[in-house]
Amino acid sequence: MTAGEALAHGAARLAHLPEPRREARLLLAHALGVTPAALFGGADLPLPPDAAAAFAAGLARRAAGTPLALITGSREFWSLDLLVSPVTLIPRADSETLIEAALATAPASTGRILDLGTGTGCLLLAALSEFPSAWGLGIDRVPAAAALARANAARTGLAGRAAFLCADWAAPLAGRFDLILSNPPYIETAAIPGLMPEVARHEPASALDGGADGLAAYRALLPALPGLLAPGGIAILELGAGQAPAVAGLAEAAGFLPSFRADLAGIERALILRPG
Ligand code: GLN
Repeated sequence: MTAGEALAHGAARLAHLPEPRREARLLLAHALGVTPAALFGGADLPLPPDAAAAFAAGLARRAAGTPLALITGSREFWSLDLLVSPVTLIPRADSETLIEAALATAPASTGRILDLGTGTGCLLLAALSEFPSAWGLGIDRVPAAAALARANAARTGLAGRAAFLCADWAAPLAGRFDLILSNPPYIETAAIPGLMPEVARHEPASALDGGADGLAAYRALLPALPGLLAPGGIAILELGAGQAPAVAGLAEAAGFLPSFRADLAGIERALILRPG
């Protein structure tokens, strides 16, 4: 079998997905251990048996609903190539809205950044890549997530400016930060089984479940934030669709002036908080 034949077979196998050919190409590149770009022009090359077997196994997992990133083991976020695992949320393009909001609001001199519920480390590492004089701390309650984020800091060359702690939100922190980022779990518990099976079955409840009304994490986080912000500091939290009014109310009660930034779908995705 040639690479081109394998790609055609893979795309047919994934025909129920929106982008079968692209996904098949990424799986084939992963099976061969090459970049997707390296496949262009290589359609006539024979597929080595071990790569053919790895491709078949990846296709079977993808056809059964495993997220592509969990098969290839990585996902791009803000142009950083990050390792992923089943213990954290897979980075989403929606969350890049928080980095856009940070660039629009935080001074270039931003020195200390905190990421609460860091997961893969995507928000912290993207922010560190944009604020070159900043130092950052990522916190996650799940030990394997803190370890994954640490590995991603090393992988992206940012380990010298990033530290990671395993803790419950901001409980152990006393320091002051110029920029606080968080993508907390915000899905209503009862809505989780109805999410896309890829999400509901393959991503951890610890990163999704926001309690009965989806707002439990904001109730826990918001009162702690004023004590963690340096003078002039800004906190930016991710929101689920439709949550802006409710979370803005909680933020005002905690003494903040809230504003929003929409994602590419027009959903108010980032809540920007300055002390009132
Ligand atoms: N955006 C994710 C989803 O739609 C949820 C992320 C979260 O709960 N923080 O599945």
